Amino acid sequence: MHEDALKLHDLWRKDIARDKLLEESRGLKAKIVDRTAAVEQSTTKLSAATDNLTRLKGKEREANRKAATYTKRRDTAQRSIDQGLATDYVAAEDQIRQCGEILDQVETLQLELMESVEAAAELLERSTMTLALNKSQVIASQKAYDDRYPTLKNEFDAASKLRNAARQDIWKDLIQRYDELRKKRRPAFADIRNDSCTGCNVKINATDLSNHRRAAELVTCRQCGRLLGEFL
Ligand SMILES: [Zn+2]
Repeated sequence: MHEDALKLHDLWRKDIARDKLLEESRGLKAKIVDRTAAVEQSTTKLSAATDNLTRLKGKEREANRKAATYTKRRDTAQRSIDQGLATDYVAAEDQIRQCGEILDQVETLQLELMESVEAAAELLERSTMTLALNKSQVIASQKAYDDRYPTLKNEFDAASKLRNAARQDIWKDLIQRYDELRKKRRPAFADIRNDSCTGCNVKINATDLSNHRRAAELVTCRQCGRLLGEFL
């Protein structure tokens, strides 16, 4: 293999090692962002659950008040009949009947509300737990980042030094081509198998094959532009 190819391949390996550290750092940061967003989301849900429970409890109180009012009204009418104090018996009986109908409706509503309040309270409890869990995950992901950061930074600085040193040794035009390839696709290299580029499967012409075999020059695939060599 051509000397330039070996040098570029060495640079490539160093770049990959450096990229991995960068990715690790990005991954750790992304986790914090992700968990923080989850906290915001669960805070919103918790607030909605709290509002919902408050609203339902308000309705429940209202229904209870209504039930108390009509119970009292019915009992008063009943007492006036029982004690012979009613001025208009028919009207009093009518009132008892009407109050009874309303109380039936209120009772149904009260039962429904009781179930809704219970469900809302459960949701609130779950939301509270989710929020607490998400908060602890933010702390954990921040800690994971903080714990790893000093060594990660050292490793990254060392990898950058190695990579920069490897670049010094390579002809500028080649570095430029290599950088362009890396920007466009990864990896920047491909093997030659069955006289074809493993990157794009296009046949390599005889001259290029010959140059490659004699290590006369660093051969580039004319189709996909990858640097060719037995690297992979
Ligand atoms: Zn190719």
